[in-house]
Amino acid sequence: MSLSEDKISYPQEILHYEKKIYDQRQLIEISRALNSTLDYKYLINAVVDVCLAQVQTLSAALFLIPEMDADSLELVPDFKGFDLIYSLDHYKISLESSLIHLFKETNKAYTILELETHSRLQNNKEVLILKELGGHLIIPMKAKGNIIGLIILGEKITGEEYTNSEKEFLVDLASLGAIAVDNARLYERATVDMMTGLKNHAYFQSRLKEEREKALKRNTSLYFMLTDVDKFKTFNDTYGHQAGDEVLKAVAKVLQSLAKPPFFAARYGGEEFCLVMPGLKNDEEALEIGEKFRSGVENTVVYHEGKELKVTASAGIAKFDPSLDAKTNKNIIERADQALYECKRQGRNRVLLYNKIFIKQS
Ligand code: GH3
Ligand code: MG
Ligand code: MG
Repeated sequence: MSLSEDKISYPQEILHYEKKIYDQRQLIEISRALNSTLDYKYLINAVVDVCLAQVQTLSAALFLIPEMDADSLELVPDFKGFDLIYSLDHYKISLESSLIHLFKETNKAYTILELETHSRLQNNKEVLILKELGGHLIIPMKAKGNIIGLIILGEKITGEEYTNSEKEFLVDLASLGAIAVDNARLYERATVDMMTGLKNHAYFQSRLKEEREKALKRNTSLYFMLTDVDKFKTFNDTYGHQAGDEVLKAVAKVLQSLAKPPFFAARYGGEEFCLVMPGLKNDEEALEIGEKFRSGVENTVVYHEGKELKVTASAGIAKFDPSLDAKTNKNIIERADQALYECKRQGRNRVLLYNKIFIKQS
């Protein structure tokens, strides 16, 4: 290479490296943002939005594994800029398909044209699905060696092709997204009760602690409700454990419908659920929510093996008291449990707020 040629290529190279450094910085920022949350739904939207912000396209969608042991990727409903011609459940991509094997082996982004003309993907059903959606660039989301999803981008607004450096950048971005999504999923698995979909006991204990600390620091109110299905032993004996499980899922649904943030519901254990309620104005509001739960359960019918099943439930509520509850979860739970015990004593299918009198009566 002559000296003059060297001079000409030098600024180009600098520009190239400056762009690389800029891209790396972007990726660090994106990684920080994606890893700052374990909220699965929020993450999915963030991945889609980051893609839209990074490249000049108006359409982005994700295919993800709906559950850890599922056998296909499914289109996530929160896509942007694409129009579906079929119903959502048409858009599925088998994890055993040649398409996914190709992505797993190469871990690179492909245009839809590259996929259509690929020797390993002749008349491939999955490629057709992506084409029907309007996908132009397909990027694999790889975490721990597995494809856990695909990012689908539409055409660039300029009509130009995606450049190689954009494709490489997007593959890096997709793998950051994949790791974040995978972590969020593991976290969800570790904190959610599989049967009811409510948060589990361990999560509940640590969140209640946080809520107590907030209530103490900000001098805000906090109520805790503990619920228990009435005569559930007899129910199981009469209809069987499986019928019992179906009923518990329905009861959990009623409670979950009342658990709009900042409230949260959890499975305390067995057929006992709980609801943590920060920020209510007074006892009446807490009792109203308890009553919604009680009547909701009473009015729920579960159809199981040709039978119409019904149960009732009781709920005890306790109010956070800084003088008793500043240090541990135990006391407020105990008071709600005493209120619950009093519900049972008074005949079940009712809601009571803890009152010191209960202890004397029982
Ligand atoms: P009470 O009205 O006093 O609460 O009467 P109970 O029979 O409901 O008494 P208790 O709350 O002590 O009984 C709990 C029963 O709930 C016993 C157990 O078999 C049943 N149970 C707990 N977890 C599950 C579950 O996951 N599935 C089913 N089917 N039953 C469960
Ligand atoms: Mg019980
Ligand atoms: Mg019970």
